[in-house]
Amino acid sequence: MGIHGSSTTPVFLENCKVPKENLLHEIGRGHIVAFNILNAGRFTLGASCVGGSKNVLTTSSKYAKERKAFGKQIGDFGLMKEKLAEMAIQIFAVESMVYRSAGNIEAMMSAATGDKIAHQMKVLEEYAIESSIAKVYGSEMLDFVVDEAVQIFGGYGFHEEYPVCRAYRDSRINRIFEGTNEINRMLIIQMLMKRAMGGQLPLIPAAVKLADEIWQGRHLKRRQKACWRKKRAWLQMQRRCFCRQRAAQCRSSVRSWRMNRN
Ligand SMILES: Cc1cc2nc3c(=O)[nH]c(=O)nc-3n(C[C@H](O)[C@H](O)[C@H](O)COP(=O)(O)OP(=O)(O)OC[C@H]3O[C@@H](n4cnc5c(N)ncnc54)[C@H](O)[C@@H]3O)c2cc1C
Repeated sequence: MGIHGSSTTPVFLENCKVPKENLLHEIGRGHIVAFNILNAGRFTLGASCVGGSKNVLTTSSKYAKERKAFGKQIGDFGLMKEKLAEMAIQIFAVESMVYRSAGNIEAMMSAATGDKIAHQMKVLEEYAIESSIAKVYGSEMLDFVVDEAVQIFGGYGFHEEYPVCRAYRDSRINRIFEGTNEINRMLIIQMLMKRAMGGQLPLIPAAVKLADEIWQGRHLKRRQKACWRKKRAWLQMQRRCFCRQRAAQCRSSVRSWRMNRN
């Protein structure tokens, strides 16, 4: 027996009795509560990144109107306009994503009949994928926004006296806590595949249909003369090849799942 005690129980927990009223859930099912707390935390984190990034955008656009270089307001330079526009676009994308999911979650929550707590846990579990996506996409959007804000402030962006310096430093932790973005990325795929294999999500039929279309060559256009059309066709083809690979993986997963079941 090492410092961690026997098999799985740490020394300090051996002989330790937890009062019944302190149990998170039924015995052996406390992890469900813990996971759902994480899901709610991830979604909230993604949503809070929107508020934070909006403040940074407001501060940056105000500064861009005040700061002059080469006799002009820096906000009048095309590249500065592009930065501010890109920041606004990315914030809008995350805000829309969070707004829509929040609406869905709220609608499902309010449709509770019977045990309200059990229903809420079910809803949080149902939206676990969206919560992880909101966390990853929101935190990376915030990082992008604060990075561009530092750039707009130039050298002053690096000074503690200016607000974007702190925003830049504080933003970084969001990609680490509530499950690192790497772990959340893996979770998203795992959860999607689990639901696809369980028949809750019609991902496999969609991938198989796409694969069939590619085999039939329906999407190959041979005489596309305009350059942009060629590029678009090439991109579409790449996307379809990627989907086809996923479909092949799905097929072999389904095959091994069926074999194991039998
Ligand atoms: C300010 C702050 C507040 C916190 N608050 C809380 C809190 O309130 N409650 C709480 O429970 N925790 C909290 N934490 C802990 C936080 O959740 C962890 O730091 C975080 O989950 C990452 O775990 P770790 O630090 O052990 O990193 P590690 O697990 O050591 O990970 C290190 C790196 O390896 C990568 N990695 C690990 N495993 C894999 C894998 N399988 N595949 C690919 N990459 C992998 C990670 O993505 C990361 O980049 C807090 C942390 C900080 C810094």
